[in-house]
Amino acid sequence: MEKLGKTKWWSVDNDVNNLIEDDSIVEAAQLLQQNEVVAFPTETVYGLGGNAYSDEAINKIFAAKGRPTDNPLIIHIYSQEQLNEIVASVPKVAKQLIETFWPGPLTLILPKGKQVSERATAGLKTVAVRMPNHPVALAILERANIPIAAPSANRSGKPSPTTAKHVIADLNDKIAGVVDGGRTGIGVESTVVQIDGENVTILRPGGITREQIETIIGKCHVHESVLTDIHSPQSPGMKYTHYAPLAPLYVVYGNEHRLHEWIAKERAKGHRVGILTTTENVNAYKADRVLACGSRSELSTVAEQLYATLRQFDRENVDVIISESFPKEGIGVAIMNRLEKAATKMIV
Ligand code: AMP
Ligand code: MG
Repeated sequence: MEKLGKTKWWSVDNDVNNLIEDDSIVEAAQLLQQNEVVAFPTETVYGLGGNAYSDEAINKIFAAKGRPTDNPLIIHIYSQEQLNEIVASVPKVAKQLIETFWPGPLTLILPKGKQVSERATAGLKTVAVRMPNHPVALAILERANIPIAAPSANRSGKPSPTTAKHVIADLNDKIAGVVDGGRTGIGVESTVVQIDGENVTILRPGGITREQIETIIGKCHVHESVLTDIHSPQSPGMKYTHYAPLAPLYVVYGNEHRLHEWIAKERAKGHRVGILTTTENVNAYKADRVLACGSRSELSTVAEQLYATLRQFDRENVDVIISESFPKEGIGVAIMNRLEKAATKMIV
């Protein structure tokens, strides 16, 4: 264990047997039981965990992240018994989804059980819950043996962390510790679905695709907030503060030609221009910094590297980032959702 100021850092090997006996896991779990907040890897991004039954722990999560208190948290569990503790009921359709996708990147919104802190659910009568598919996360949950609220372990508004270093860059001295289990696999957050009786609605696209869900349960709805209107580009109301790098981000729909135009325009203003592209096109642009984010032929690699690439631009001193867009298919729906939310403007 290392100590960086007030924040502890444990490195763990994801592959060791019996992780729940590992000293680092034991210590991290103890801190969670004492209502401290600890960051750990999941298969999506790093989460900042806190006891879901404790207002004190939940307050610490909101304070460390600078997160608005009306934005509810996802509760992480490792067993069926814990699910029954934190929800009031599990409709049949939820059971089907759980059987297929847990542990995994699918969050269900279900009627809330009594014990869960109302601060964690922002006063709602529902609770968001998932079982993560990562050996370190599961070991910590089992060892602590309490449901753990865990939003992404970044300062609110910034790109989510996919390494322990990203966590420290944002939260050093603000949290009790971080468990380093290496780079996360999927790279974008879980899919969030609302369960209303037997109706299923996607509130946030993520690691599990709509197609995967529909294979199991038939038709599922998509909330209108997910279907961003790309036909009102450059509107001043489009100032999101989610997943955002320091420099303004322009997402360009359409071909390379359009990107070249915008590079020229920005350079004429004397701006240092960064380009977010993929391995296929990395030599196609003349700009101040060109970063490849995965490969277009395998969109899961773009998801894996998206947040790390946005964070890399923060270190490159660019005045503007111009990004290619991606097909809204499969995991591409989640990638474009995050890029659109991070963008200062969209260029059609
Ligand atoms: P994050 O913690 O950044 O991964 O975000 C969690 C997401 O789940 C946010 O979009 C929340 O608004 C959403 N969420 C959490 N709990 C609920 C709930 N009870 N009802 C609806 N959405 C929720
Ligand atoms: Mg987040």
